[in-house]
This record gives sequence, structure tokens and C-alpha cells, in this order.
Amino acid sequence: MHSQPHYSKQAISELCLANPLLNELMALNSVTWFNPERQTTEQALPAVGLTADDVTDACLRLDRFASYFCAAFPETIASNGLLESPLQAISAMQQALATQFQQPLSGQLLIKLDNFLPISGSIKARGGIYEVLQHAEKLALKAGLLQLSDDYSRLHSDVFRDFFSQYSIAVGSTGNLGLSIGMIGAKLGFNTSVHMSADARQWKKDLLRAQGVTVVEYQSDYSVAVAEGRAQAEQDPNCHFVDDENSVQLFLGYAVAGDRLKTQLTQQGIKVDRDHPLFVYLPCGVGGGPGGVAFGLKLAFGDAVHCIFAEPTHSPCMLLGVYTGLHDNISVQDLGIDNITTADGLAVGRASGFVGRTMAPMLDGFYTLSDNDMLAMLGLLSEQEQIHLEPSALAGMPGPWRVINDTSYLKRLGLTPERLANAHHLVWATGGGMVPEAEMKQYLAQAAKIREG
Ligand SMILES: *Cc1c(COP(=O)(O)O)cnc(C)c1O
Repeated sequence: MHSQPHYSKQAISELCLANPLLNELMALNSVTWFNPERQTTEQALPAVGLTADDVTDACLRLDRFASYFCAAFPETIASNGLLESPLQAISAMQQALATQFQQPLSGQLLIKLDNFLPISGSIKARGGIYEVLQHAEKLALKAGLLQLSDDYSRLHSDVFRDFFSQYSIAVGSTGNLGLSIGMIGAKLGFNTSVHMSADARQWKKDLLRAQGVTVVEYQSDYSVAVAEGRAQAEQDPNCHFVDDENSVQLFLGYAVAGDRLKTQLTQQGIKVDRDHPLFVYLPCGVGGGPGGVAFGLKLAFGDAVHCIFAEPTHSPCMLLGVYTGLHDNISVQDLGIDNITTADGLAVGRASGFVGRTMAPMLDGFYTLSDNDMLAMLGLLSEQEQIHLEPSALAGMPGPWRVINDTSYLKRLGLTPERLANAHHLVWATGGGMVPEAEMKQYLAQAAKIREG
């Protein structure tokens, strides 16, 4: 692991002089920044080092495992063993937000409900589960226990559980990734350890322990939990560490969403092209989830899709890394920002360098919002659409209004009023499906208080 630079007071003030937006970040104000170095998809895609073939490979692997899911997780039978989430319009919410922001939104507001993803109820069911499957398949193929042409429901058996029990899987997490890895890892028979940061919710730890997962708790934040988990895993040659900060497999698991979304949009008669732009608002923690999804979206829609990342004002790690060009060589703590947020999936102080460096040229922009804004919108969405999400999953909700209020960005990308009238604004709702009812009640009570204001 590389050692992280230390910044003196002087170095930080020089950095702020050269990058004035940092003063706003340090003041914990909501900011919006559109990327002046955004490239065309054609220019930027080759630099990722991964291709459409890699994503297709991931897609086919998930297809092979469909019969396993039907056998091991009966709730996936309805979707033929595929883990996918609904896409729908939220017109009542669109109206309510237009009233709140005192500005109508032309085009249509959509939501992608990853809170309904089976098994772990968050976007982590895409990348996290995929990486464990990829690893399990590799081990079983190598041992001669499995062939690519087999019916993978075979894996739901004592023979395979005994085989996988010789191996372990470890991950560091703020909660949801641990939940995904833990659920699938334990089901397949792996010895699974989850290294949880201090902000991880108690109910997530309880749920994992009930599945036989080892939960290691830390009093510090996400980066420390990951580093400790990585160090422990390195001691054991039979241990696979799911590296949330750098993993290509995680990234590919997320990227599968792009083509799947394309199919859903087509089925709903929604066109995406230059004259019918698609804006996608993605909550960002370390960056793997939104980065992987954005990669898949770019492969599917090219320049017609506009990806925008959303972060809490207390954890703006990706915006910080991309804006300064320092990527994982700077953390929000270096600026004196505390990385404490109610949006636990997004409580990350240092972004993935891999995602920042490879994906930034394809991203249109970044913004931050406060915890209170996330909670208020959690309440509003519950009231308007009877959809219940965790706070992180609301981060994308104000995105469309950030877009329509930046005239220089719109002009630079040729986003004319005619095109915006045909636009779809898709808020990626990244989680909340596993939140216990009592916790959801608390979120709603907090939301009500904030909205009374
Ligand atoms: C993890 C998570 C994200 C962000 O994903 P990263 O890969 O950490 O950027 C967003 N929303 C929720 C609910 C999450 O759990």
C-alpha cells in the first residue's frame, strides 16, 4: 500500500488558493461543480482499461448463476434468478420538488429502485455479490468440480459448501457492502469476515452474525476498516479480500446495470439519444458503485447519457479528488472535514483512485448536499410516492435542479431547451430495502422535524 501524503497548513492554504471551491467544501456548503474537462465517450472509454467484452463476460457469468439463485434464494425465482430492480416515473415527487425549488422541471423524473434488489436491498447487491460469484466460480472450475456448461444450482449443496469452507472472504465496509458479501459468502459456504467501520449500523452487524459471518468492529472510519481487513487477509493465502477501493471485479458487477437499464428503458418506450438526453444522478461513497454503473451507462448510451455524482457535504471525497486532480492522495480529513454523515453508505473520506482517475473524464459533474436535505427528501418521497429509502439513496434527488440552473454547463454540452424538454432525469435510489421498520420510523420522524423546520 502506498503511504498517504501529509499536508501542512501552508500546503492546504496554497491548495485552496489554486482551487477556490475548496473553501466552500471546508465551510460545508452545498456545492455543484460541472467538470470542464469532460471528454466524449469515444475519447475517454479506452483509458478505462476495461471493455464492453469484460462487461458482457460479467453479464454471462451472472446468467450462469441464475439457477443457483433460484435454488438458494427463492425470492429470486420471480425474476428467473436475475438480481435486478424496477425503474419507474415519480411524477408526484417531481411536482412536489418543483414546488419546493420553485422551478418546474421539463422532461421526466425517474427512479431506479435498487432498494428492491434481492438478497441485500442495495446497489451493493450488484458489485459485491458479483465479485464473490466470480471468485467461487474460479475456485470450483480450477478444482474440477464445476464446468461452465453445468446447471449452477449444483452449487447449492453440501459438496460445494464443504469445498468453499476451506476458503475465506474478507471485506471492509460501512455496512451495505459487508451485508452483500456476507449474505452470499455465507450462503455459498465461505468463511466470511466483514470489517465494519464505526458508523456501521448495529442491525447490519446483528443480521450478518445471524448468518454466521464474523463481524470485526472498528472505532474508526471506513478507510481504517478497509486497511485492517486487507492486512489481515494478506496473512492468509486462502483468503480473498474484496477491495472496495480498487477492485475491477466489483466495478464490472456494477457495470452490468448499464445494458439492463437500456432494456428497461426500451420496454417502457423511453428513447435515449442526442435529442433525448438521459441524466443519471448517482450517490457516491468510495466510487466503485457509481463509477461502475456510469461505465456501463457510457457503454450503453455513449454521449447521450450524462452522469452526475452526489455526495454528503461532510464526505465529498470524490469531488475533492477529481477537482484537485489529487484523487486518492487527499482525504476530506486533510481539509478538516469530519466525514460524519447520516448517509452511512457515503461516509468515505478518501475516494477510490482507480475510479477517479479512469472515470472522471466521462463524468459531467459532482455536487454535495446536507444530511438534512437527504432526510427531508426521504420524508417527501415517502409522503408522495410511498417509497422508503435510506438517507444515502436520496442524494440524487436534487440533481436535476442543479443541472437546469447551470446555464454555462448546459450551453457547453449543447443541452438546449428543446432537448431538455425531451430529457429523462434518473435518480439512482441506491438502498434502503433492508432497513428495519423501527429505524425507518426514526428516519421519518427526523424528516418530519426538519420539514417543519
Ligand atoms: C455504497 C453505497 C453507495 C455508494 O457506492 P460506492 O461504491 O461506495 O461509491 C451509495 N448508496 C448506498 C446506499 C450505498 O450503500
